[in-house]
Amino acid sequence: MDFGLLHRTLTDLGQPAYRARQVWRWTAQGAAGFGDMTNLPRALRDALAQRVPFSSLTVDRQARSRDGTVKALFHTHDGRAVEAVLMVYDDGRRSLCLSSQSGCPLTCSFCATGQMRFGRNLTADEILDQALHFRRGAGEGSGPQPVDHAVFMGMGEPMMNLEAVLAACERLPDLGISHRRTAISTVGWIPGIERLRDTPMPIRLALSLHAADEALRSELMPVNDRHPLSDVLAACRSYYERKRRRVFVEYVMLAGVNDSHVQADQLAEVLDRRMFKVNLIPYNPTGSPFRASSRKAIDAFKAQLERRGLDVTVRLTRGRDIDAACGQLAARA
Ligand code: SF4
Repeated sequence: MDFGLLHRTLTDLGQPAYRARQVWRWTAQGAAGFGDMTNLPRALRDALAQRVPFSSLTVDRQARSRDGTVKALFHTHDGRAVEAVLMVYDDGRRSLCLSSQSGCPLTCSFCATGQMRFGRNLTADEILDQALHFRRGAGEGSGPQPVDHAVFMGMGEPMMNLEAVLAACERLPDLGISHRRTAISTVGWIPGIERLRDTPMPIRLALSLHAADEALRSELMPVNDRHPLSDVLAACRSYYERKRRRVFVEYVMLAGVNDSHVQADQLAEVLDRRMFKVNLIPYNPTGSPFRASSRKAIDAFKAQLERRGLDVTVRLTRGRDIDAACGQLAARA
């Protein structure tokens, strides 16, 4: 919802300031529209329904995977594509993957979003509306549904639009997603890491690392020329020292590119085991020339990191049957 428009409309209608808080409480709890807000006078509900669109995003497509993952493709008022995903886990977690930009100005070679044209930064309202869509249970068809975790790992580099991302994060606890259960993922945009370090919100930092060797990393992620890994890791260390929260390292496993024994050793060499936890990600092919590492290669890479004392997990693959990798749905559309 465009909260600026909501405030202006309530002022025009001569309403007291607490009305905006009432509307927000209902919205955050998954109300389907103004009509549900029974502690607002009926005439006011009708006036708001006519003047304030309930979401700043329009749903274009929605797909539900056999594993429960739901992926939505939206567009903004100016026609920009936005994707968001709900992942439902066996332990009951209901985690959202949110986008911060339409398209992405960075051009990581293995990423579907990176191959799209960059649109623009999303507003805080457009970011929040992705989460509210799933809080309303859209895609599941049974009224409001809980959501409890969020990661900014969808389209875009969140640190390049951090003020809007943080403004959205301030409101996520009202939907049921605490700051401790929110993570912002970056390819290593140092000014953003420093800004996140300095916010009072205990939001987790995740670093998309993908290669410990600077030359290979620059090939996979050209941003590495601007912010080399050694400087990025120093920024991550300063985040850890301030927040006392481990940084999650995301490492996408690309067959024959970054999955060898030697490369596991290189990775172990640059990561301090107290500060970093590694998450190995089986690659979800996106029509790029890259192939996914075999399960055997992933297990061997994991075992080598563990021998070197690192805490390592392998991410569960979700939603493969519905193109749930970052940018895949929008790229196809
Ligand atoms: S991986 Fe992230 S930063 Fe890189 S191109 Fe894709 S969306 Fe952008």
